[in-house]
Amino acid sequence: MAAVTTDVRMRGFARRHTVENALALLDAHLHPLSTELCPLPRANGRVLADDIVSGVDVPGFDRATMDGYAVVAVSTDGATPYTPLTLTVIGESLPARPFDEAGAIAPGEAVRIMTGAPLPSGCDAVLPAEWVEGDFASSQVAAVASVSPGKNVGRIGEDITRGTTVRERGRMLRPQDLGVLSSIGVGQPRVIRQPRVRLVVTGNELLPAGSSPRGHSIADANGPMLSALAERDGGLVDFPGLVSDEPDAILQALRCDAEIVIVSGGSSVGVEDLAPTLLATHGELWVHGIAMRPSSPTGFGKLGASLVFLLPGNPVSCLCAYDFFAGRAVRALGGRPKEWPYRSMAATLSRKISSQIGRLDYARVRIVDGHVEPLAIGGASVLSSTTRADGFVVVPGDSEGFAAGSDVNVWLYA
Ligand code: AMP
Ligand code: MG
Repeated sequence: MAAVTTDVRMRGFARRHTVENALALLDAHLHPLSTELCPLPRANGRVLADDIVSGVDVPGFDRATMDGYAVVAVSTDGATPYTPLTLTVIGESLPARPFDEAGAIAPGEAVRIMTGAPLPSGCDAVLPAEWVEGDFASSQVAAVASVSPGKNVGRIGEDITRGTTVRERGRMLRPQDLGVLSSIGVGQPRVIRQPRVRLVVTGNELLPAGSSPRGHSIADANGPMLSALAERDGGLVDFPGLVSDEPDAILQALRCDAEIVIVSGGSSVGVEDLAPTLLATHGELWVHGIAMRPSSPTGFGKLGASLVFLLPGNPVSCLCAYDFFAGRAVRALGGRPKEWPYRSMAATLSRKISSQIGRLDYARVRIVDGHVEPLAIGGASVLSSTTRADGFVVVPGDSEGFAAGSDVNVWLYA
């Protein structure tokens, strides 16, 4: 009996998938969700489902880009501080309150104008206020400099011409995009739905995040970390609370209408690792056991309509497995690029990183004086290694590692 228990508790897999193979299996199930209309004030970070084509010109009228006097440019020809030219002020044009014109203005006449106000017809330039002498209220002023046609005038369609595609589908909207959409009258762009992400954080030893660890209980590190990761990737997180290591409790938590379910803990092959068996029994377990370190006890599959990810409880493994698999799904279902949202940089290794052929390694590193320094870390349970780290280096499965002095690619934690 004891021997059987030891055997069963061993964290070994008869067979492990390579990371590439696991990703290929996963990718076959990753398709963007349906679309919805989203009011602009809530559209930041959302992914456009359609190209946005402008139906209008911006601006829709010629306008002043400086405060001053709208003129016929030729009437300022030759004006200098020594040879000022008199202009007759015949009215004013303010934003949304154009010059009330009887006809086009003539050379020698000027209309006082504010930035953004419509250019009166017949004018082709704006003489800035600082190039004009005379009282702002008076009906005669003197030009002390000349302007060429088109000067200080914003032309119709100069910003956006009707018919222009201002943003393409698949684009993540940024704050300035919302401004552009608003300026062309798009108040509710069509966007890809955000995936709902249910977190199932398991472990009898866990206390809710924020509790002080006591006795043999530990505070949940993965719940807050996974919430933040899934939100970063565009997921709508639903985290109903910690789940005990009981099959019924886990199964109940797994069954939901979220597109993605992320389980933390109990993902290996020990007697308390219930999630893989539950998933295989009630749904489908496509992959279980991956040739990588950390995170080898990772799995994924499907239950009902939900994609289910089984992530190891060790916090570093949990983070790594999220980044490789679950995060990819959150991003892809929401229409974002599948790739990591991390910036990367090339730099030289100050010490070697060793790895075994046949296993991908996720090595936490620091950047010290422009060099990449691997962190000396015992194991996957040392989460603070990831907060000390600036990023990580991936050693591919077919590599024995990198020698000191070699150039490596570092992914910088966002
Ligand atoms: P498990 O994957 O459930 O076997 O857990 C592996 C290790 O990670 C154990 O030491 C657990 O106590 C620890 N662990 C599991 N879940 C969490 C969590 N949510 N936060 C912090 N540590 C955890
Ligand atoms: Mg556990």
